[in-house]
Amino acid sequence: MTERDCYLSDEKATLALGETLGQQLQSDRQGLTLFLEGDLGAGKTTFCRGLLRAFGHSGPVKSPTYTLVEEYEFAGRSVNHFDLYRLGDPEELEYMGIRDYFRTESVCLLEWPERGAGVLPEPDLRVTVAVEGRGRRARIEASGERGEGLLNHWPTGDSMEMSF
Ligand code: ADP
Ligand code: MG
Repeated sequence: MTERDCYLSDEKATLALGETLGQQLQSDRQGLTLFLEGDLGAGKTTFCRGLLRAFGHSGPVKSPTYTLVEEYEFAGRSVNHFDLYRLGDPEELEYMGIRDYFRTESVCLLEWPERGAGVLPEPDLRVTVAVEGRGRRARIEASGERGEGLLNHWPTGDSMEMSF
C-alpha cells in the first residue's frame, strides 16, 4: 500500500485535488473504485465535484443521500456517485443491483462506504478527509496495481502541499 498526505487550505484546493484525479481518469479511460471517508462536512462531495468537473460536468453535485446513487454519463463512460450515509443495511445494496455499477470501465465514488461493508468491492483508492485548522487534511491510500499506478502519477499542483 502506498499513501500520500496533503493539506487543502480551502475549498478550491479540494476541488483541484478531485480534478487532478478526474483528469487522469479522463485520459486513461479505465475504471476506478474510490472510497471517500471522513465526517459530515469534511469535503467528500467537494472532491467529487472537482473530479466531475474534469469530465466536463459543471452543474451542481448534491450528495445522493436519499437515492444512494447519482449516475453521470460522459460519452460512453459513467461516473457513479454514491452516498451511503442513510443506508440501513448493506443488503439493500444487493436489491438495488449494486454489482451493475461496478463495471470495469466505470468510475465509482463512494461516500460513507463503511455503511456498505461486506457488499462493496475493495477500493483502488481511499481518500480520507478531516478538518484541520481552516482547511482540510487529505490522506490518499492506494492498493493494487490500479490504485498505485494512479497515486504514483498524481501530479502535484500549487494548491496542494503533497508529502509522502
Ligand atoms: P461532505 O460531503 O464530506 O459532507 P462537503 O463536500 O459537502 O462535505 O463540504 C462541506 C463544506 O466544506 C463545504 O462548505 C465546502 O465548501 C467546505 N470545504 C471543502 N473543502 C474545504 C477545504 N479544503 N477547506 C475549507 N473548507 C472546505
Ligand atoms: Mg457529502
